[in-house]
Amino acid sequence: MCPHEPCCPVAEAQDREAARTVAAHPEQGWSLLCNGVVLFEDTGELLPSGAIIAPHRPTDMAITAA
Ligand SMILES: [Zn+2]
Repeated sequence: MCPHEPCCPVAEAQDREAARTVAAHPEQGWSLLCNGVVLFEDTGELLPSGAIIAPHRPTDMAITAA
């Protein structure tokens, strides 16, 4: 499936965001990664399985913790 060398991490991997971007839509605030993950501008993610990953940008977490 993945044409890259080395292969991109799978959508289930912790480092899924390291996959190559195959379609970028900065004007809409999202990009599609090679492993099928949709990565949003706020660091939220939509996995191919339909699971949602909440935004996890370190600066946001610091604000939430305060
Ligand atoms: Zn790839």
